[in-house]
Amino acid sequence: MMPETVRCAWMYHDIMDLYGDKGNIMTLTARAERRGITFEAVPVGIGQEADLSEFDMVFMGGGADKEQMALIPDLLSRKKNIKKALDEHTFFLLICGGYQLFGQYYETADHNKIEGLGLLDFYTETGKGKTRCIGNIVIDADLDGKTLRLIGFENHGGQTLNVSSPLGKVVKGSGNAFDAGFEGYYDGRILGTYLHGPLLPKNGELADFVLSKAIAKRNPGFKLEDLAPLNNPYEKEARKALLDRFSLSELQ
Ligand code: GLN
Repeated sequence: MMPETVRCAWMYHDIMDLYGDKGNIMTLTARAERRGITFEAVPVGIGQEADLSEFDMVFMGGGADKEQMALIPDLLSRKKNIKKALDEHTFFLLICGGYQLFGQYYETADHNKIEGLGLLDFYTETGKGKTRCIGNIVIDADLDGKTLRLIGFENHGGQTLNVSSPLGKVVKGSGNAFDAGFEGYYDGRILGTYLHGPLLPKNGELADFVLSKAIAKRNPGFKLEDLAPLNNPYEKEARKALLDRFSLSELQ
C-alpha cells in the first residue's frame, strides 16, 4: 500500500551539511511528492529531544572535524535510541562525517580520537601527512541484489578501515580509503557513504531505493519496484554528461 507520508529525522541539519548535503532532503521530498507522498523532514539538532524509532528514516550529512567533535556527546547520548530505531527498521542514510561516527572511532586530522557510536566494526584513521581523498567518484553499489552505478564527489581525510560489508566497488576515485577498492557501508538497515555531490540528485534510482526502504518500515515488504518510475530526461542527460566526462557509461 502506498503511504501518505514518509517521516525523516534530519540529524544535525544545521552543522552537518557539506557540499550541498541538504540537496538529498530536497530530492527525497520532490520524488515523494511526485508520487503523491508527503515527505516530512524533521530537524533534530544538538540537545533536541526526539525518539528516532518513531521515524521511517534518519538522515545525517557530512561535516568537518570541528562539527563532528561538537556533536559527538549528543550523538553518543542517543545510542540506545538509535539501536531501538534500527531494531524497529528505521532506515539510516549517512554521508561522510555522519557515516564515520557510526564506527568504532574517528581520528581527526589533528590526531584527536573521537569515540564513535561503535554500532559497526569499522574505524576511521587520518590520512598520512594530512593527505585527503578528494575528487569525483563513481561506484557500483550492491543494494539488496540490485547493482546501481552511483556518481558523487568525495573529500575526506578519514581512512575508513575494516569495513565488513561495503556499499560497492570503486570504478573511479578512492572510496573508503586511498586505494581501498571499495566504498561505503550497507547492511540493509544502514547505508553509509563518502559520496557527497550531493548524492541523491545525481542518483535518482538510489533516491527511490532510500524512499522504498523508509516506506518499508510501516509497510513491510515494500520494494523499489513498487514506486512508479518517474520520467525525467534531464536527469538522464545530466548523468550521461558526467559519465562521459569520466569515459564511463551507465550499467546495461
Ligand atoms: N571530517 C571528516 C574527514 O575529513 C569528514 C569530512 C566530510 O564529511 N566531507 O574525513
